[in-house]
Amino acid sequence: MTERRVPFFDLAASLNPVKDQLDAAWAEVYGHGGWVGGPAVGAFEEAFANYCEINHCVGLANGTDALELALKALGVGRGDEVIIPANTFIATAEAVSNVGATPMFADVDPATLLMRPIDVEPMITPRTAALIPVHLYGQPCDMAGFAGLAEKAQLALIEDAAQAHGSRCDGLAPGALSDAATFSFYPGKNLGALGDGGALVTRHDDLAEKVRSISAHGRSIEDRYLHDIVGCNSRLDTLQAAFLSVRLTRLDEENNHRRRVRDLYEQLLPASVQLVKQEPGRVSSNHLIVAEVDEREDFRRELETQGVQTGLHYPVPCHLQKAYFEGANAPSKPVAESAARRIVSLPVWGQMPEEDVVFVCERIGALRR
Ligand SMILES: *Cc1c(COP(=O)(O)O)cnc(C)c1O
Repeated sequence: MTERRVPFFDLAASLNPVKDQLDAAWAEVYGHGGWVGGPAVGAFEEAFANYCEINHCVGLANGTDALELALKALGVGRGDEVIIPANTFIATAEAVSNVGATPMFADVDPATLLMRPIDVEPMITPRTAALIPVHLYGQPCDMAGFAGLAEKAQLALIEDAAQAHGSRCDGLAPGALSDAATFSFYPGKNLGALGDGGALVTRHDDLAEKVRSISAHGRSIEDRYLHDIVGCNSRLDTLQAAFLSVRLTRLDEENNHRRRVRDLYEQLLPASVQLVKQEPGRVSSNHLIVAEVDEREDFRRELETQGVQTGLHYPVPCHLQKAYFEGANAPSKPVAESAARRIVSLPVWGQMPEEDVVFVCERIGALRR
């Protein structure tokens, strides 16, 4: 028995390399007193747009609002259907519901657990208004396929990239082939704030302008006392923007480290523990490293007693959540439902010590030979 403990991720440790810069960012924002908006927000938006190789980034309060504002700005609302995967964080569905539209849950690819164009195409009806592929665990969906489908059926296309900062599909960053891509800066995400934060990126000038206006009370760009549309208050906090600019400078390095962690897991895990597949041509942010195992609850409990913390993303698919379950009529999504019982997320973060990965694999190997 050993004393070693491996947390699922270690947020405090991941801030250590930039602690002085975060303190300086805090001192600067505190000093200038512009605590909403101001240069820190604009500077982060520009830096993150550059990072995403795209012309517009609009900072927002969180990733859920980013999805909701994208839908609103694209005119999706009451009476519309929006197709999303059954296995995503509930926020994807909430955003659709909160604009008055209906989320339609698609089943997913058994190998990658991602929604595919072939899962979605038969679900398109005259009421379908938008598709939201989710780049789950950090691996991008087939965006060329979705862009083709959206164009053919005249649908809005929004990428939920909340877990996929720095990902690439055939060399393209989120937002390159869609109307918009949305990000979350929740602390546990690859690029995390020290509180809530989010953003939308887009190639389209008019969409960027509209989302920015909605996020600031529907304010007209020409005159701050005129409100052209009904908006809300969903701005990226100034202090969080200053922190995010600091953390962005290390994102690629941390993503590369996550890649090494995934490679190590792939080498060292026993054959009875298979990682969810990654497709060639896709660069994942490796936000989560997810395996499929038999007797998942025993597996987690035994690892916990060995000092290894694991996570679940997500144990109940959205269509089976009470908020969305429509009784006996809910069509089953066999792949998402079976995966939900088998998946387990292994520890990973931007500075995870490699000896911890080795330790986790040893403990798993001892459980399952
Ligand atoms: C985190 C997350 C969101 C929501 O982001 P918040 O910033 O927490 O609102 C949306 N979709 C997915 C897939 C997420 O992982």
